[in-house]
Amino acid sequence: MSAVVAIPLRAERAALAGRLPGTRVLRTGMGPARSAARTRAGLDGAPAVLVAGVAGALDERLRPGDVVVADELRGGPAGAIASPSAPLLAAALRRKGLTVHVGPLLTRADVVRGPLTGTGALAVDMESAAIAAAAGTPVAAVRVVVDTPRHPLRSPGTVVRGARALAVLRRAAPALQEWAAAARPREVLLATPRSFCAGVERAVTVVERALERASGPVYVRRQIVHNAHVVADLENRGAVFVQEVGEVPEGATVVLAAHGVAPGVREDADRRGLAVVDATCPLVTKVHSEVRRYSRRGDTVFLIGHADHEEVVGTRGEAPHRVVVVEDAEQAERVQPADPERVAYVMQTTLAVDEAEQVATVLRRRFPALSAPRSDDICYATTNRQRAVREIAAASDLVLVLGSANSSNSQRLAEVAEREGTPAHLVEDASAVDLRWLAGAARVGVTAGASAPPHLVDDLVTALGGLGPLAVRSAAGAVEDVLFALPKELS
Ligand code: SF4
Repeated sequence: MSAVVAIPLRAERAALAGRLPGTRVLRTGMGPARSAARTRAGLDGAPAVLVAGVAGALDERLRPGDVVVADELRGGPAGAIASPSAPLLAAALRRKGLTVHVGPLLTRADVVRGPLTGTGALAVDMESAAIAAAAGTPVAAVRVVVDTPRHPLRSPGTVVRGARALAVLRRAAPALQEWAAAARPREVLLATPRSFCAGVERAVTVVERALERASGPVYVRRQIVHNAHVVADLENRGAVFVQEVGEVPEGATVVLAAHGVAPGVREDADRRGLAVVDATCPLVTKVHSEVRRYSRRGDTVFLIGHADHEEVVGTRGEAPHRVVVVEDAEQAERVQPADPERVAYVMQTTLAVDEAEQVATVLRRRFPALSAPRSDDICYATTNRQRAVREIAAASDLVLVLGSANSSNSQRLAEVAEREGTPAHLVEDASAVDLRWLAGAARVGVTAGASAPPHLVDDLVTALGGLGPLAVRSAAGAVEDVLFALPKELS
């Protein structure tokens, strides 16, 4: 049975007439009692309900024609009811060019004609919370503002504002339809392991400890890890992110990011008298020392990786005249070292295991004398997460990978899932999920890159739970117990 779009008023129903093809529409009537009764009678097993209509704003920042998406429905007989799909719905509406506010929506039995303060709600209507209480399934609510504290109902222009609000409701229709098509009972299959690795945990802890201990500001060169949420969180706690150490005041504390840096960066920091705290992942440091070892003995070092990635830039900096970056198998076929008998290779830690192996295979065939690292350069966290995403992709209709677009290991997870033949998307957080991807997806695989915080997974699962009954299952996978010690100055 499909989801229902519940529309209280005749005018709202008329505004949406013909604009929700293939969607079940329920006209609930006005007011909490009538709308609750009609919801109970008309729900007929719908997995979720979306209330759509107009409302009055309670928050002075809202303007007529703005759209309110409820994240909580207040004032109903069941008390406050969360509306977890709000981030997904708000994003869909914003993609239609609408001005959207997400927050609590209050339901009252009477028409509010004067100021109503102290509720904490963005807007007020007469049905949503009552419908939510009656439905007993996940409920979302979209309301377009007609009146505001500055433009009350009994004032000139209400008719015009009402007509404009209904026009906005018409523009919202495609997003409402996307929500209804995405709503269904669903299973979420969580990859194991997912999210933070030991190197990222360590890097974040390094900044936190430095913030606790430093008497002045703590500067961080570049993103500490490639995740916008991690950076924003640390920024809020006082960390100052810079591009280069030259921007850091002399004598201040600077943290070097997890991806590692070229020796020249450390030299610049020393020249400025900076107190350097090194958050480079020990597994990246290992690759740096391999490059130093091979280059000292005169080898050309093939660095398999993405030339513009910060980790590769830093690793290459150990021996710029000896390191040759090899991005793919085609480049591996063409590369010409000074002496084919004195060659070695290393890898970026976050590559796709199978792709990197293809490149290494070409190099091994072309250069039989090729030296290889003693142990894999692609780190345990990358390997485990790729294996785990491959497994869930094979069993899912869709895979969602949480991570930032500049996170190499997160990008690789989406690619690995797609190579299994399953559509996959890399998303910053739940608000970046396009409802259209979810239509027909009964089982959604979810994972997160090594730099993506675990709460993003929880938030996404919660949001998906707002689209209908949800079963959540963790796939079996590798147990990770790796723990890296903090730099000695912080331990
Ligand atoms: Fe270290 Fe691997 Fe995590 Fe990168 S992904 S920080 S190399 S453990």
